[in-house]
Amino acid sequence: MTELNWRHQTVIQALLSRGPLKEDQFHRIFTGLTGKTPGSDRQRFDDFLLKINKALSYVQFELRGCRFQYDGQVYYGVVNNVSDEESKLGTKYSVAQIAFYKAIIEAIVQDGAAQGTISNIDALNLRLENQVLMGTTSQSHGGLPHVPPALKNFSISMKEKTLDELVQDQWLSVTPDNYIGLGVRSFLDLRSWFRSNDVPACEVCNEAGVKAALCQKEGCIARIHEYCLKKLFSERKGERVCPSCGTQWQYTVTKAEAVEDDEPNYPTQSQPPVGPKKKRLRRNEIGDGDISGSSQASLPGGPNLRRSTRSSIRLQ
Ligand SMILES: [Zn+2]
Ligand SMILES: [Zn+2]
Repeated sequence: MTELNWRHQTVIQALLSRGPLKEDQFHRIFTGLTGKTPGSDRQRFDDFLLKINKALSYVQFELRGCRFQYDGQVYYGVVNNVSDEESKLGTKYSVAQIAFYKAIIEAIVQDGAAQGTISNIDALNLRLENQVLMGTTSQSHGGLPHVPPALKNFSISMKEKTLDELVQDQWLSVTPDNYIGLGVRSFLDLRSWFRSNDVPACEVCNEAGVKAALCQKEGCIARIHEYCLKKLFSERKGERVCPSCGTQWQYTVTKAEAVEDDEPNYPTQSQPPVGPKKKRLRRNEIGDGDISGSSQASLPGGPNLRRSTRSSIRLQ
């Protein structure tokens, strides 16, 4: 077992008790504990995190950083590497609430316009039945899949309450224009899920492009985070083209948004997103025929969710 000193333990405790921390807060804690700044002593910072992660790996936890894609801000958090939602969302949420969360995440990442959000009304109208259909069609009777009462009876008011809780716990977030987006915890936690479910990656940083700008050229599927665009175009003076197809990329940057990028991996300065405004596209409702199709993304641990769904039926 890796030996951790009180400094490592303090960092772990801060992240576990306070949840994901903004990069500047996290750096301040590190500086307070070690007298060093991550910027001036990167090696020491990396070694510090590596040591924590060696110890956390024994209990399948991991400390990692990610960007909150709506404003580009970097966060650090401890994630649970056990791949099912029951352990990720803890004992706090019911099976129906977790199914609702999954439905929202799937709807958001399937949006071809990469807005990274869903409206409140669209979220409340999501059908949880779709979540069960994916795995239980073989159990259907007379062609109609059986839907557990917990999901069928999940009312609008229960959905509203769940939305509030998920936002409170940072699994979801509310954007300035009152849409629902992924929360910091979801960005931290779902990294491998994004990959295994073919959520298109950003051309620049290769992380999932949940909230991203799209190439204007018909047929080009390139998408780039707003903060990555800013970085890319500040490096290539005068050459503002799609890295994939070479088409000119409509992009304007004002003086106030000039890039201050001290650290190549995680810039400390966050700026409001800029770039071409995309018309919000209405997300196509997933038809019944699509449910079992390969386009339907499913969260890791789906079998576990279904298993507990079934066992909860038996208990009734
Ligand atoms: Zn990117
Ligand atoms: Zn392109």
